[in-house]
Amino acid sequence: FTSAIVGALVALSIIALVLSLVRVEDVTLPPTVKYGMVFDAGSSHTSLFVYEWDSDKENDTGVVSQTLSCDVQGQGISSYASNPPEAGNSLRECLDKALQVVPAEKQRDVPAYLGATAGMRLLREQNSSAAEQVLAEVAKTMQEYPVAFKGARILTGEEEGAYGWITINYLLDSFTKYSPRAHAWLRPEAANIFGALDLGGASTQISFMPEGSAMSQNEASEFTLYGYSYNIYTHSYLCYGVLQALSNLALGACRDGENVKRGIHHPCYPKGYNETVSLSSFHASPCTEGSHPRLPLGDSSVTLEGRGNASGCLAALRKLFNFSACGQSQDCTFDGVYQPPLRGQFIAFSAFYYNFKFLNLTEGQPLAVVREAIEGLCTRSWEDVQNPKRLPKYCANANYILTLLLDAYKFNETSWNNIFFQMKVGSSDVGWTLGYMLNLTNMVPAEAPARVKGHRP
Ligand code: AMP
Repeated sequence: FTSAIVGALVALSIIALVLSLVRVEDVTLPPTVKYGMVFDAGSSHTSLFVYEWDSDKENDTGVVSQTLSCDVQGQGISSYASNPPEAGNSLRECLDKALQVVPAEKQRDVPAYLGATAGMRLLREQNSSAAEQVLAEVAKTMQEYPVAFKGARILTGEEEGAYGWITINYLLDSFTKYSPRAHAWLRPEAANIFGALDLGGASTQISFMPEGSAMSQNEASEFTLYGYSYNIYTHSYLCYGVLQALSNLALGACRDGENVKRGIHHPCYPKGYNETVSLSSFHASPCTEGSHPRLPLGDSSVTLEGRGNASGCLAALRKLFNFSACGQSQDCTFDGVYQPPLRGQFIAFSAFYYNFKFLNLTEGQPLAVVREAIEGLCTRSWEDVQNPKRLPKYCANANYILTLLLDAYKFNETSWNNIFFQMKVGSSDVGWTLGYMLNLTNMVPAEAPARVKGHRP
């Protein structure tokens, strides 16, 4: 009898042990970290971003973080039109760095994308086979690395705008929030959705959720994210990036009707600063060539003489925009482009941010203070300035930003206060790359994510 009891006890302990092992296994499976990478091949430079997230939360909002950002040495990939293999080689250093932050056993699962923007859109317009070759070479290089290559392509301007908008609202957690108390995903407040203002070298994008949903124009994009649908307005202006616009400004200063002037004054450059430009450089872009097709631009150079004239600079910049094409319409920016009334708060990033940061204007200063600071900067002489690399351009850049935001996009004294000049949210950079990856890896699902995915202790 005793041995029967002992036997039963042993059997019970074995069952208890087995059950406890099964339980432990059920609750201790660690979430795996996943990675993804995206190259932002911009007009003036390329950056690589590596992201990571927990696999068990991948459909939740706000869980992806940026592990690495790497600036590719040299110019943007469109500058390699006459030597495409070098475009591919330029990416190697950053690819090597990326592999150092992803564990070897996970590298082959890392989705890797390259998206090119306005610099490549322009190259495609000018020389489509060169653009194809550059894309083929960057793809070839990426495929040599042990990652899951998912494509190298040119984004449309509207995609660029829309993915920037997704990035911002994802990082700021404005799409939807899970309420543990209600055990449900809560409807986002429209007032918490941010608009996106992106300024690159060759194009600029504006994206926001307007009042109502009546937008028949082709600027409308509709998304269903986490169970809610969003109608957003997005427009991309090719040739209105800051470098292209300033190149047009310089060309305008060089022209006298259909002739090239001598002794050229540049209102936005500081007094005492001269810049010599080769006239043929204006032919390098369809933005400038198209606007002055008959200008005889030989091999000669011209010297632009800085005038440090703030009001003259603003006036010259306004001439880059065809405002009269809008007539009396308020829902119009320039060139007859439709834009519904602005709504809500905006994040202004990329060159909007870089230029205003340099001028210490990213602390929410009112418009009057900003105008005064920019006027002061424009009248500083060249001997006076500290940073020779970019300083001659800051007056032009800052005034271009003012013209674009106020005259074209129609921000005013009051709505100016709704613009936040910001390049980061937490440790992640703001830009189109994160939104692009989230979309292509289906991490912002149309449906509200399921909460219960497994057992938790
Ligand atoms: P993209 O290469 O098209 O993305 O354009 C980026 C723009 O930001 C270019 O016009 C650059 O000249 C500009 N940019 C980048 N870094 C800075 C900086 N530190 N200060 C001012 N402008 C910058």
